[in-house]
Amino acid sequence: MEIIEKILKARESRSELRCRLTEGRTATLSLSLNIPGYPKSDQRLAVFFNVVLADLKRYLAAHRIELDKKNARRFCDEAGDFFIAPLVASEVQGEAPPGTPKSPISLRITTLETIKSLCESFEESHPVGRVIDIDIFCADQVPVSSGKAKKCFICENKPAVACMREETHSKEELRSYILPGIHRFLETHRRKDVCTRLASLATKAALHEVSLSPKPGTVDRFDSGSHDDMDFCTFMNSTSALSPYFYRLAEAGFNFDGPSESALPSIRAIGLEMEEAMFRETGGVNTQKGIIFLFGITLFVTAHVIRKNEFFERESFVQYIIQYIKLFCNKLTENELDSLIDTDSQRRLTHGEQCFRRYGKELGGGVRYEVEMGLPTVFNCGLPVLQESLKNPGDLYLEQHLQEPLTRTLLSIMSVNNDSNILFRKGKFQLESVKSLASEALRAETSSDREKHFTKLVEYCRKENLSPGGSTDLLAVTLLLFFICRVSQWLPADFNSCAMK
Ligand SMILES: [Zn+2]
Repeated sequence: MEIIEKILKARESRSELRCRLTEGRTATLSLSLNIPGYPKSDQRLAVFFNVVLADLKRYLAAHRIELDKKNARRFCDEAGDFFIAPLVASEVQGEAPPGTPKSPISLRITTLETIKSLCESFEESHPVGRVIDIDIFCADQVPVSSGKAKKCFICENKPAVACMREETHSKEELRSYILPGIHRFLETHRRKDVCTRLASLATKAALHEVSLSPKPGTVDRFDSGSHDDMDFCTFMNSTSALSPYFYRLAEAGFNFDGPSESALPSIRAIGLEMEEAMFRETGGVNTQKGIIFLFGITLFVTAHVIRKNEFFERESFVQYIIQYIKLFCNKLTENELDSLIDTDSQRRLTHGEQCFRRYGKELGGGVRYEVEMGLPTVFNCGLPVLQESLKNPGDLYLEQHLQEPLTRTLLSIMSVNNDSNILFRKGKFQLESVKSLASEALRAETSSDREKHFTKLVEYCRKENLSPGGSTDLLAVTLLLFFICRVSQWLPADFNSCAMK
């Protein structure tokens, strides 16, 4: 059979389906794409169709136009992607259902003409609206028309039918105009989707980290640990201040296209703005500077990896993230800290800088050394413990399921991390004591034993006035990566839904 015949046949079966679905009882609404030439659909077009369909359904629902979901159909045939659904009868008879309060403008009383004109507004306001066809058919199979003519894709002010009649454009010309437009739309859509998702996971990770209670030495829900200038409330303020910037960090990574050494300055520029926002909300207290740095890199890199490797294999996702963290943070300690050893700087050194000066790269390199190495503490000690103990998706909904796994993960991190907060405030001896107390608590076999050792660690931190804030920052970034890895689909959309039904 010729392609054109196949397409005509597909259109014929669509109109048969339209009759069958409603048996003349109610009107229908259908969605299709006006794609010139052949094929009428492919993987990307099907994704585009699904995005438009989801938007349209929300748009209709927002205007209180109800579709008969049970009898709705979505499939792909030779004529392309297609969706059809009967309109729910009470919506289209022009009468208010019994009990509807009488008001001058009742949204329930919607005529087919109104629905048609709303659908036209949807098409017109859509960035690629000229390929979107929403058709309304009355119960007796007559199409509802507003008499408005669709504009040509290419000639701004000419009706499409005129160009078709005059054969102004070849199908190839039209396709080469339309398909890149659809591609651009999907890229934008995907960027927003990915960045929104990543930003919300980042806020979630920061909140779960600070809420974990009890924690040795750091702020938790009921205790301020070794701090007298901040408590749980300070952290709520600061997390709220940071949360809008998580989107921007992800977006910067998604769009990043420069040489690898320009990644960190881009992250830092947003990070500095975040610090200002944090200090504003905490009255000048440093609550989450470590989070800003670690989440900055993680969100930037993850979004970049998702963008770059559109169709990556799941297993290699984490490897890509590690690889890009290493690439973007290459020689970070060397560039930022090595020069300090020789120069007798007049400026006051930060805690991290002083630690590096005193203890060298491996012990005193702190969070800079950790990211330069691709977050080994997170990927080797934090993430495996968390993944092992939180296997069920339902585990994340209740605190009672979270506390034990999060505590174990923190202990695992603390048992190896050369926390520069402890090194700076106290010294090597206290750091080694904390590491061994954490590892004893981790190795304990019974829960009473574990609790005994954990209490010992908490007591020790209290007595010595220690705050393992470097480790809780790594717990937060472990949580963020755990949430990221849990999302099953970072692909552009669900491709399975375009399968023939
Ligand atoms: Zn034209």
